[in-house]
Amino acid sequence: MTLDFLGNLQRTHRCGELRVGQDGQDVVLMGWVNRRRDHGNLIFLDLRDRTGITQVVLDIEVSNDAHEKAEAARSEYVVAVKGRVRKRGEGLENPNMPTGAIEVVAKELLLLNEAKTPPFSPAEDAIANEEVRLKYRYLDLRREQMQKNFLTRHKVTRAIREYLSENGFLEIETPFMTRSTPEGARDYLVPSRVHPGNFYALPQSPQIFKQILMISGFDRYFQVARCFRDEDLRADRQPEFTQIDLEMTFPQQATVFRVVEGFLTAAFATAGIELTAPFIQMSYDEAIRRYGIDKPDMRLPALTDLTEELTPALREQLKIEQKLPVLGFVIPNAGGLSGTQRRALVDEIRKAFGECGLDSLDVARLKTNETFAPLANAIEAKLAAEPTLEEGVTADDLVVVITPKLGTPEKWNYDPQWIYKRVGALRLQLAQKFADKHGRFTQTGTADDYRFLWVTDFPMYEWDEETKVWNAAHHPFTSPHEDDIKSGALFNDKGAVRALAYDIVLNGTELGSGSIRIHRQDVQAEIFRSLGMSDEEAKERFGFFLDALEYGTPPHGGIALGLDRIVMILAGAQSLREVIAFPKTAKAIDLMVDAPSHATEQQLKELHLKIAGRS
Ligand code: ASP
Repeated sequence: MTLDFLGNLQRTHRCGELRVGQDGQDVVLMGWVNRRRDHGNLIFLDLRDRTGITQVVLDIEVSNDAHEKAEAARSEYVVAVKGRVRKRGEGLENPNMPTGAIEVVAKELLLLNEAKTPPFSPAEDAIANEEVRLKYRYLDLRREQMQKNFLTRHKVTRAIREYLSENGFLEIETPFMTRSTPEGARDYLVPSRVHPGNFYALPQSPQIFKQILMISGFDRYFQVARCFRDEDLRADRQPEFTQIDLEMTFPQQATVFRVVEGFLTAAFATAGIELTAPFIQMSYDEAIRRYGIDKPDMRLPALTDLTEELTPALREQLKIEQKLPVLGFVIPNAGGLSGTQRRALVDEIRKAFGECGLDSLDVARLKTNETFAPLANAIEAKLAAEPTLEEGVTADDLVVVITPKLGTPEKWNYDPQWIYKRVGALRLQLAQKFADKHGRFTQTGTADDYRFLWVTDFPMYEWDEETKVWNAAHHPFTSPHEDDIKSGALFNDKGAVRALAYDIVLNGTELGSGSIRIHRQDVQAEIFRSLGMSDEEAKERFGFFLDALEYGTPPHGGIALGLDRIVMILAGAQSLREVIAFPKTAKAIDLMVDAPSHATEQQLKELHLKIAGRS
């Protein structure tokens, strides 16, 4: 086939722009053939670009030459059309297309490029096979939904950039080739050719650099920062991802919160969602006690403590452990389960708890028993008082009450937090199970379904039972609570030390975390020591930073939020891969470019590397 040259032809409009207002106007459109319908003397080409689709009519009576070319055209060919806009006849409009009231009658058609038959059609909804989509990502990205997702991403990023710029933040880039930044993952390493045996690490986050920028007097910094973390494979994680990373000098926690609320409000506004700030705030301890998790989904009722309702005498009768809490919760609108279904569910819960020492109390059954009916009623009355349950407990709801079996304390070494966490996990599991039925607890919904919250006062340390060491729960630059330094807890009761660390949570998802940092060299050195790092090791890994802290470091703090996740939520997508242009698979492979790939012998030689096991 002979292809046409573009010459000096210029397009006048985009494919999504024309309306009846342009009736009779001569236009030039360019784009891809989305679909082609051949009706003999009339051929219809749907012409597509990023902005939409226009129907082009090739009438043999208008131009034989153009009609002939349209006969040869196929899906995904690139064409240019010179023609005249015509209001479509009565009844021929397509109300589902923004351009559906008009069509363009072609006088000339240029075939600018042909296309092989694509493995899937960009004109259709996503195909199920994601590997094929990722291998032919350029075709996948042509789909309307993907074009929309990246428009959303652009708008969100721009709104955040603008908000932060208007609020005194400077956008400053930090290096990709650097030293290790501890964020709890493995580093990606880049071998140095000029320094044999030495490696750069790709940053897990810009953490140390942004703190140094505060020491350097920049006052407020932000970056749309790429981070690299070599983590064990988990669904919906990407080895490289983007954070909205910021840091500020002399902040209180509340100062950071207000900035984040400001830019999130601006970001959500781009999707027409109006947020109400300030967001509510809850300590880590309260989150665990009320929701059994450090990232509560506030769309669901909280856990209700029924410890007092279960009096010692009742506990004895029901063989319930005396000292441990009894917790209950309600899953609203579970769908009017029958008695048999409820009993099956209780059995399922029992099985899920297995040997762990917890049991489920069948409240519906208690009600039918004269002795226990008052208890069942008291339990229901207390559950009904939960503020998120507007209509109290109804027959449509699922009521779950979890009791510790006799002998549980010995088994669980008296860790009541564990019970809260276990019951909290069950609450989410059951909500998930019934979510599909009602579509209520998915990640997106109407404006008031976006329940943001700040979780504060995280523990400073986490005990690792396997290695028997205290690890930093956040990262080692997080400041302990001033009171816990003053009280001496830092030195003699690590488990009780609170950090000035906070998370921003949306509907059960952690969107970001941050902290007020350590700004004193002596405290930082002490924290490294408390994490089992010798002074020599601290000097070797972070000497430059400990040095910098000695030259007038102001109090500072900040946060980082996952941009990909924010966009995913706003785009209504179910996976991060839908909002990252060239993502990797769950096995960290880029299927389009086929990375990672072998290095040549020559490259390895230059890098002074040998692959073990390869001759
Ligand atoms: N660097 C932290 C992270 O990537 C965020 C912060 O503390 O600002 O999670």
